[in-house]
Amino acid sequence: MADTYDFDLFTIGAGSGGVRASRVAAAHGAKVAVAEEYRVGGTCVIRGCVPKKMLVYGAHFAEDLVDAQRFGWDVEGKIFDWPRLRDIVQDDVTRLNGLYTQTLDNHGVTIFNERATITGLHELTLASGEVVTAKYILIATGARPHVPEFPGSEHGITSNEVFHLEAIPEKVLIAGGGYIANEFAGIFNEFGSKVCLMNRSDQLLRGYDEALRDRLLQISLTKGIDFRFNALFEKIEQIEGGKLRVHMTNYEPCEVDLVLYATGRVPNVEGLGLETAGVEQGARGEILVDRFSKTNVDHIYAVGDVTDRVQLTPVAIREGQAFADTVFGGTPTTVDYSCVPSAVFSHPPIASVGLTEGEARNTLGSVKVYQSDFRSMKNVVAGRNERSLYKMVVDAATDRVVGIHMIGQDAPEILQGFAVAVRAGLTKADFDATVAIHPTMAEELVLLK
Ligand code: NDP
Repeated sequence: MADTYDFDLFTIGAGSGGVRASRVAAAHGAKVAVAEEYRVGGTCVIRGCVPKKMLVYGAHFAEDLVDAQRFGWDVEGKIFDWPRLRDIVQDDVTRLNGLYTQTLDNHGVTIFNERATITGLHELTLASGEVVTAKYILIATGARPHVPEFPGSEHGITSNEVFHLEAIPEKVLIAGGGYIANEFAGIFNEFGSKVCLMNRSDQLLRGYDEALRDRLLQISLTKGIDFRFNALFEKIEQIEGGKLRVHMTNYEPCEVDLVLYATGRVPNVEGLGLETAGVEQGARGEILVDRFSKTNVDHIYAVGDVTDRVQLTPVAIREGQAFADTVFGGTPTTVDYSCVPSAVFSHPPIASVGLTEGEARNTLGSVKVYQSDFRSMKNVVAGRNERSLYKMVVDAATDRVVGIHMIGQDAPEILQGFAVAVRAGLTKADFDATVAIHPTMAEELVLLK
């Protein structure tokens, strides 16, 4: 193959999907190159899930250090040092960036640390001017934060910049009601900022079970986070002292130190040369692909957020793996998008798999819902009036568990295991037959009545 082309596979974008596809294709014997214009690792590793989770851990100490007193510990002189946490997190991001690069190197993948553009059906031109050819092209360029357009919008930042702040803002306004908005509302609130979350609609976390969303809202209000629903930006002006005055519909203007946009992500498709190759795109610019991640052009594929299917890292990784196994491993493989578990690392976190109660009622007809609304042992001792909520949705006709939805401490850790059971189609009777581990929070799921 490589006699006619420089490479068997050229991947544009070294994020979660692109790295997995390149590494596995190389392991299958392909000659592979990858181009990355920023840092190997992509959004998740460099400025997404990974550093965010580290901040979530750091933030939780705010409550743990208060609760410590009820567990017999007096902690004198606690001080939060943001630059220390920020820099330690960035050091680890750099370590992971190195590991990802090493993985590609170990598999003999050529890395071009520059932008690549498709300039012919099988031709790519790098920013340096070098031209290469490839039998297959994989587009894995991900997505970037959407920034709403209005006068003064340039005064706000996105999740790209939030990890590098000089200082924690006294007052922060977060726009959006999804994953990033709720996660950073929790983080900033625990770090001591006064947080206000504004959203264009009156809903948080659309798609998650209503009872959990409502519980998160109640707990967030109790923790002191303000909410402004049905609010759209009108303008932001810079005022004295480096502060920002934000004007929005339906509310009085507010003055804050920082505005963070968390209003969704848009596929990175600009300047890729898609029109040169005739690659079809959808309404939001996303690259349209079939179930094997193939575009309308036979030798061009796309995986991950740039296709706007399910914008989650583990899904992009599976798409990259399936692509490599299909094209270079001789095993046609598709990704199963049913029963994808997910989590929001809010304070407290939410985790979910399968159908929500509403979805189940619409699709199955007869549904049984089991619920546990409880205060964890830790919160009881801590004197913290924060309740967890676990919900199980069961198909009444077959007894099959079709959804589990949880909010509370460690919910994502607990749900990962239970997601296997839901995906495997186990019944409520199977859950009931499983002996509890006592005392745990997770045991609630095998004791539901
Ligand atoms: P989300 O899609 O989760 O939420 C976007 C929010 O912004 C919604 O509340 C939406 O409102 C609002 N919104 C959308 N478009 C506009 C607009 N034009 N103007 C004003 N508001 C708007 O996006 P995020 O930015 O929070 O995260 C991006 C993606 O990254 C997520 O979809 C998720 O897939 C992924 N992610 C996953 C995480 C995880 O797994 N824990 C963590 C962080 C990100 P409305 O509800 O009205 O549509």
